[in-house]
Amino acid sequence: MAHVEVDQDTCISDQVCAATAPDVFEMGADGKAYVVDGMEEVEGADLEMAREAAAACPVDAISIDE
Ligand code: SF4
Repeated sequence: MAHVEVDQDTCISDQVCAATAPDVFEMGADGKAYVVDGMEEVEGADLEMAREAAAACPVDAISIDE
C-alpha cells in the first residue's frame, strides 16, 4: 500500500492527474486536484495509475509514499 497526497498550494489546475488516473484524482470546486475519498491508500493497478499521474504532473504536486 502507498499513501497518495496532492499539494493544493502547488497544483496549477491543469487536470492532467484527473485525466490520467480518474479513479484516484478528481478536481475540486476550487479547481484544484484532490485524492478521491477512500483512495488515499492505494495498491496494484490504482497505485500504477497514481504513479503515472504523479510523473505527468508538471509541478510535482503529487506525492506517493511507499
Ligand atoms: S497534474 Fe498536478 S498540477 Fe495538474 S491538476 Fe493534477 S496535481 Fe494539479
